[in-house]
Amino acid sequence: MKDKLQQLLEKATQALADSNLIDEVEALRVRFLGRKGEITTLLKTLGTLPADQRPAMGQLANEIKEKLHNRFEEARQKLAQTARQQQMASGTIDITLPGRQQFHGHTHPTSLVIDDITSIFTRMGFNIARGPEVELDYYNFEALNIPKDHPARQMQDTFYVSEDVVLRTHTSPMQIRVMEKQEPPVFVIVPGKVYRCDSDLTHTPMFHQVEGLMVDTRITFSDLKGVLTDFLHLFFNPKVKVRFRPSYFPFTEPSAEVDIACVICHGKGCRVCSHTGWLEILGCGMVDPAVYKFVNYDPEKVSGFAFGMGVERLAMLRYGIDDLRLFFGNDIRFLQQF
Ligand SMILES: [Zn+2]
Repeated sequence: MKDKLQQLLEKATQALADSNLIDEVEALRVRFLGRKGEITTLLKTLGTLPADQRPAMGQLANEIKEKLHNRFEEARQKLAQTARQQQMASGTIDITLPGRQQFHGHTHPTSLVIDDITSIFTRMGFNIARGPEVELDYYNFEALNIPKDHPARQMQDTFYVSEDVVLRTHTSPMQIRVMEKQEPPVFVIVPGKVYRCDSDLTHTPMFHQVEGLMVDTRITFSDLKGVLTDFLHLFFNPKVKVRFRPSYFPFTEPSAEVDIACVICHGKGCRVCSHTGWLEILGCGMVDPAVYKFVNYDPEKVSGFAFGMGVERLAMLRYGIDDLRLFFGNDIRFLQQF
């Protein structure tokens, strides 16, 4: 039996040396070491030996099995490595070929300006809110102190979806939606799209606004002036002149419009500022007490201000864009400049 075991070891080793494929090695492993393999079969005859020879023979069989197992494993790894190297050597990767060019997108100037505005106001402590573009007449008009028969409805050319549903004409409806849900203090800005039935050189049916609202106890017009002046200094430049003019909005009282010294001619007068030296930038005012009644705030206890600005207008002034239609034309030559 000892001789037979030694013969099997030699036979297996010789066969292993002759095989060049992983599959062949595996077949040999099964042939010699498998459950029905030659060594296992031989060991089944162990019982026929005299009892005093069995332990020594069993031990020898185990040693030979382990030796073979290690040799098979070694051969398998060697062949696997050779196969990998051959695969790499015969690969068709030509690293001298130039790579494909990656085309980067560009942030739209409208988005750049919205990002900038929201960043300035969030640093001041404002939160960002977003609201529906298809809006109830109630939020777009009624609750902002603009009842059905109010002449101010004529100020905005409205797209009506149905009698009570409109495409929002401004971002101001979110003032109401925010105050309905939240007790003061409220510090919120609302960037978003708005829609008006208007299209010419200086108007598009869809454009972007950013709305702002600050309501707390003891908020005064000085806070309004401070916040908006700071904003304009941060957005344009720290030295730009700012002025507040009395104006009218149905949902603020008193109301004001804010101008900055023309960024093109620096106040001397040019075509962009219609030779006035000033550019109208935003509308604002103290929230009208009538509005607080719609959201169950007590106008005796709270006060605050609201403001709104057109994003495209700010972008035009910042980047010197002179045609509003460029924002919506999707001309890649225009967009690539940002
Ligand atoms: Zn000017």
